[in-house]
Amino acid sequence: AVGIDLGTTNSLVASVQSGLPTILKDANGNSLIPSIVYYGQNNIKVGHEALSYLSTDAKNTIVSVKRFMGHTKSDIQYRESLPYAFDDDSDDIQIKTEQGLKHPIEISSDILKKLKDLAEVSLCGEITGAVITVPAYFDDAQRQATKDAAKLAGLNVLRLINEPTAAAVAYGLDQKKEGTFVIYDLGGGTFEVSILKLHKGIFEVLATNGHPHLGGDDFDQAIVELIKHENKITQLSHEDKRALITHAKCLKENLTNDASAKTVIKLSGGQEIEFSLDRDTFFKLTHDLVQKTIQPIRRALNDAQLSIDSIDGIVMVGGATRMMHIQSEIKAFFKKDLLNDLNPDEVVALGAARQAYSLAGNKSDQDLLLLDVTPLSLGVETMGGLVEKIIHRNSTIPIAKAQEFTTYKDGQTAMSIHVLQGERERVSDCRSLANFTLTDIPPMVAGAAKIRVTFQIDADGLLSVAAKELSSNKETSITVKPSYGLSEDQISNMLIQSFEKADEDKKIRALSEAKIEGEQIILAVQNALDKNSNKLLTQKEITGIQSAIQRLSAALNSNNPNLITEHTKNLNTLTESFAAKLMDESVSQALRGKSIDKVNF
Ligand code: ADP
Ligand code: MG
Repeated sequence: AVGIDLGTTNSLVASVQSGLPTILKDANGNSLIPSIVYYGQNNIKVGHEALSYLSTDAKNTIVSVKRFMGHTKSDIQYRESLPYAFDDDSDDIQIKTEQGLKHPIEISSDILKKLKDLAEVSLCGEITGAVITVPAYFDDAQRQATKDAAKLAGLNVLRLINEPTAAAVAYGLDQKKEGTFVIYDLGGGTFEVSILKLHKGIFEVLATNGHPHLGGDDFDQAIVELIKHENKITQLSHEDKRALITHAKCLKENLTNDASAKTVIKLSGGQEIEFSLDRDTFFKLTHDLVQKTIQPIRRALNDAQLSIDSIDGIVMVGGATRMMHIQSEIKAFFKKDLLNDLNPDEVVALGAARQAYSLAGNKSDQDLLLLDVTPLSLGVETMGGLVEKIIHRNSTIPIAKAQEFTTYKDGQTAMSIHVLQGERERVSDCRSLANFTLTDIPPMVAGAAKIRVTFQIDADGLLSVAAKELSSNKETSITVKPSYGLSEDQISNMLIQSFEKADEDKKIRALSEAKIEGEQIILAVQNALDKNSNKLLTQKEITGIQSAIQRLSAALNSNNPNLITEHTKNLNTLTESFAAKLMDESVSQALRGKSIDKVNF
């Protein structure tokens, strides 16, 4: 059994050998396989063999396919900036290559096939199963797509586990009793921070955050810009651009070991550029990029309601964390030594290998149970187009939560339940997931029925919603996929908007709630007037109430919540004695004909 880190930039495969997790290497001694597939007219190349086609045939050389997994074309808004030809006919992502249309699942499966072959040659036998790692924020669709790719590659998936959890396992953190850990993962083009809590041998993902487009590539790009600036280069062919990036990456990686680095770049026009860079210049040049990782850490800590002092360990993951200024700045932020003695680009695969080993039936100290969080809040629509959140974002799953709602109108016998996802207050700003109707509610006065709405998310991330009227026990339910088709960009956009619009949303909610209250009291008073006015109220009282209703109606059109509340209060006060009389009357009606000892209060 093997563990596979199917990365955006690089992929690896590892297995436990003589009790030790070991990275498997190909015949040339490579352990890191670039996640690149070249679809040429006559051949398909994966990994190192595909690298050179990046500059000569970018259209047919697919990189970072992980970003497409589980997404539709409309999820990938930056498509225009990519060198690929996308098929226009469907919203499914299909890339036109010399080998025909390629779906992300197929491309991923070609990478997985390569890793499977590598492992089988290295282990001299067939592999029985694989544990594959995915980012903690991957939703249902993205996880399913990863599983499908594995199946297509002929791999038996033992389990998908979260990358941060695999990294924690590689450091043996699961052997400790308790603890709260930060996993800092800076790869080639993505940054993810996760906070894991270990409790009785179970890892719980408390929070995840990150930046979908921040990684080692940005540090390369910063060097490229410096080279261009110093040599006054403005225009470059695609090939030369690739060459510059390759040289920049080399310089960056060399600066991890050496205080300075040098290179000579030959451009296609014959021009030769000599360029040298020292550590200090590089650190100053990219200091802002390092700082860009701090904000997501703060947000994750905030979501998990933790302070820096309560973190027991920081695990460094991803090749880019080798850079020394990242190490020093993150250490300074947490005021704590980092866990960094394993190869940061290997830790995820090593942890996955340990999981695969125990899942394949080998003895293990304890069975790891992996928990996840919901990336966005889930709730239902309430009156006035508002969303009432039932499960808040970053809640650990599995989870079940219930809330009671009631009817709006007298005699209401049905209630429609609209399930929504997102952080904003208004229905129109959230994502609609499902709609269903609870019927056969026994007719009662408005506000008397008790309807319990229960949200439940199981361990696989599937949401089911049930609504039950408590006096009749009548129940209706529905199962929904909570985050289907949402990209991490969309999720982060939704979050950013909810922060930015919080004030505006509060005002909208206040107005909407005031309106509902006003409309409801008008409805109730009018109802009562229709039924009882003649018997209980003088004409003067009736006229007074009617003009109060008119004033409130006018206020309702004003969109001024304070005015609405004021007139609601007025109408309320004016009708207090009327309500008391009504109450007396209905009690005396109920009592009529019964002897006093039969009445239960
Ligand atoms: P991913 O998780 O996205 O697949 P990796 O964890 O393999 O990516 O990280 C790849 C990134 O790590 C690249 O940007 C690469 O240049 C960078 N990297 C690898 N080795 C070093 C090094 N010695 N110094 C600095 N950066 C490095
Ligand atoms: Mg990675």
